[in-house]
Amino acid sequence: MNAPATIEAVRENQDAQAPELFAWSLIRTLVAFDTTSRESNLALIDWVREYLAAHGIESTLTFDDTRRKANLFATLPASDGEKVCGGIVLSGHTDVVPVDGQPWSTNPFEATRIGDKVYGRGVTDMKSFSATGLAFVPEFLRRGLKRPLHFALSYDEEIGCIGVRRLVADIVRRGMKPQGAIVGEPTGMKLVVAHKGKKSWRCRIRGFEAHSSLTPHGVNAVQIACEIVTYLTSMARAFRDQGPYDSAYDVPYTTVHTGVIHGGTALNIVPRDCWFDFEFRHLPLDNPDELFAEVKGYADRFMPEMRRIASDTHIEFDTLSATPGFDAGDASAVAELGRHCLGEDVHCKVSFGSEAALFDGAAIPSIVCGPGHIAQAHQPNEWVTVEQLARCEAFMRRLADRLCVS
Ligand SMILES: [Zn+2]
Repeated sequence: MNAPATIEAVRENQDAQAPELFAWSLIRTLVAFDTTSRESNLALIDWVREYLAAHGIESTLTFDDTRRKANLFATLPASDGEKVCGGIVLSGHTDVVPVDGQPWSTNPFEATRIGDKVYGRGVTDMKSFSATGLAFVPEFLRRGLKRPLHFALSYDEEIGCIGVRRLVADIVRRGMKPQGAIVGEPTGMKLVVAHKGKKSWRCRIRGFEAHSSLTPHGVNAVQIACEIVTYLTSMARAFRDQGPYDSAYDVPYTTVHTGVIHGGTALNIVPRDCWFDFEFRHLPLDNPDELFAEVKGYADRFMPEMRRIASDTHIEFDTLSATPGFDAGDASAVAELGRHCLGEDVHCKVSFGSEAALFDGAAIPSIVCGPGHIAQAHQPNEWVTVEQLARCEAFMRRLADRLCVS
């Protein structure tokens, strides 16, 4: 953990590395916290809480079961004092993916400008959006808001949008009714109004060991796994060749993918155990549970033959993660706000998931829009261009023009 900068140091340290960026110090500060998903994010959350408190804004924290991680939700009230009804949520996750084993050329936990790019873990996914929003807090307050503006910072997005579920539940429980949410995942500062959902499973096959010269006496878990994986591959081909399609997506159909497989111990043993992980990244209208039921039905066909040889054989499935898709369309008020702040009238749809689906599912219409590109996320030497960060600042300025009284 790098030592966090004091708020005074941040104010003073609009340093020479990126003088054209209003939010540079805040970007540097947030990137300096190692908030890899397996670590606590409390140091970052405490820093933001103190920063907001210095501007007279209280934060509400919701913790995970271990109290090592927290979401932060804070409201800048409207100038008439309204805090509960209406307004916009600026949403970002605080966690980042690991840097282990990646060949970084700079310190990943120090935002470093080289030429027209800024390098660091989380500079694109997605601390820069949150930092830029927070940098504008004094501006929003000085000019006065017509409606409240909320900040939502979550934990454990990268491991399945875990933390934001509690944050959204807390918003609903407290009767807050934001008009919309802007989730700042990297979209190249394009307006995104829909993304795919994702659901993943582990399939575990328990076969029966035998000497490999006596294969009919055993149940080969690896071979059964491969038959099921082949079935998944046939589903993937069918989606590719027959749809349904939505051409607004970069990959315009539901995809099916097996990512990990483990099985067997030696060639001369009929393998007893094999497991593999697979996922559907589905168009919002495709139902992943129906697709799963198809796979399960196919797998069940092997059971009678397996049980004839050994009674304790089985094929079992565990759900690993589930993130819904969403398609809010382009007619919502927040989509209109997004178009205004971007100054362009186009929107698109993406294949990666985000917390937008969870806000949208709680009747808070959402868009996704943030600096940088998903292709640079999770990579060694993750980068974002200064131009993208400047566009994000321009977005916040237009947001302030729209939301503020003066
Ligand atoms: Zn992200």
